[in-house]
Amino acid sequence: RAALLASVGHLPSETTDGHHIELACNIGTPGDMEKVIAAGAEGVGLFRTEFLFLDKTSVPTEEEQVESYKAVLAAMPDKKIVIRTLDAGGDKQLPFIGGLPEANPALGLRAIRLCMVYQDVFKTQLRALLRASVAGNLHIMFPMIATVDELLNAKALLKEAAEELTQEGVPFKSDVAVGIMVEVPAAAAIADILAEEVDFFSIGTNDLVQYTMAADRMNEHVAYLSDYFQPPVVRLIGNVAKAAKKAGKWVGMCGEMAGDPLATPLLVGLGLTELSMNGRAVPVVKHRIRQLDIKQTEKWADDILGLRTAADIKKRLEEIASAYE
Ligand code: PEP
Ligand code: MG
Repeated sequence: RAALLASVGHLPSETTDGHHIELACNIGTPGDMEKVIAAGAEGVGLFRTEFLFLDKTSVPTEEEQVESYKAVLAAMPDKKIVIRTLDAGGDKQLPFIGGLPEANPALGLRAIRLCMVYQDVFKTQLRALLRASVAGNLHIMFPMIATVDELLNAKALLKEAAEELTQEGVPFKSDVAVGIMVEVPAAAAIADILAEEVDFFSIGTNDLVQYTMAADRMNEHVAYLSDYFQPPVVRLIGNVAKAAKKAGKWVGMCGEMAGDPLATPLLVGLGLTELSMNGRAVPVVKHRIRQLDIKQTEKWADDILGLRTAADIKKRLEEIASAYE
């Protein structure tokens, strides 16, 4: 891996026919930015901001949040930094919001749903994000969107936050890109409708697999279903990529699948143009991208969309990979 990093670290993430596939990193704290830069990544595709909230006894203040977001943006001021708004609830309970007993937390008051109940907490985060936007190239991303109304409500609150700051004379960038995670099958099914209302999509395969297969991502008894190579998952990814392309929006991926080099030819062939992963995976995926021809990957992807099982898809991708080792 170190040798791979040394050989491709400084080279562009480009296919043999010159298509750029942006490679970014997933981070949890501003301290992770050193690793992002060392990995030769081009930015941040997912900053999971819940880590700022998790080890606290109260909601972090607007000032504290501005500091953290600015630190991440300023570490790579001319690169794309996608910051996800709070994804609490579900398996990430916070002591100060939510925490109501639920029979099915993964299907309950989580992420954007929780934020729309605790709007003061959400608004504070949105204000902090806008205030931090002056430090770099901020992209705001909402998690767990399932309906167009959820997206419109979140955007309306962002607009309110912007209007407040304008009134207060606080500077912020007025052209911050706004996107959503596609991690609920409902969103994948209406990707064409949602695409009209966003600047970008980022596919979260960890939850998209869980909700598509109706299999708890932590439950070992149903682990055989928790596989991003399951045909329904692959087809949903294809559907999202197609809808985004038609609307002229970019589509990336920030779930675990994005960092799996076995999946790279398929994801490139389906039309994804950004992949966000753990820093360690960046050189490995870049190495693979630099071997691929776009037209060829599109043919493979078409063919793979017709396969019947996850095992068939994996076998096909292993055949493809073996030609490149
Ligand atoms: C995902 O669901 O794929 C994702 C990236 O979000 P998280 O793992 O934080 O739920
Ligand atoms: Mg998720």
